[in-house]
Amino acid sequence: MDSKNLKYLESQLLKRKKELEEYLSATEEKFSLSQRDSSADLSSQPTHTADIAADAEMRESAAYFISSTVEELRKVNKAIKKIYSNTYGLCEQCGCEINIDRLKAIPCAEFCIKCGEKS
Ligand SMILES: [Zn+2]
Repeated sequence: MDSKNLKYLESQLLKRKKELEEYLSATEEKFSLSQRDSSADLSSQPTHTADIAADAEMRESAAYFISSTVEELRKVNKAIKKIYSNTYGLCEQCGCEINIDRLKAIPCAEFCIKCGEKS
């Protein structure tokens, strides 16, 4: 891969990493704040069943959001590490070079199109 493309993809990955870390800390803060509030002050506990359900749903979607963000962050970090070890852009399955257009669309792609379709 030429160094211009590599530089571009590196900057995309670093930008995405920062975004994901910000999302994550903002969501975790919101999530733990609301947990602290409800345990510290019992009078603020939702009393209606609908409120409790909405609260549980909010926590569930926050938990889902956190786990999918953590997963993407893991992939982004891995891709950045690969740039520094000169193995970036190689398919983890077959070892071929991943198409540059695919990498531009998904900078943290781990597989080439063929292998990605199989899994
Ligand atoms: Zn492959």
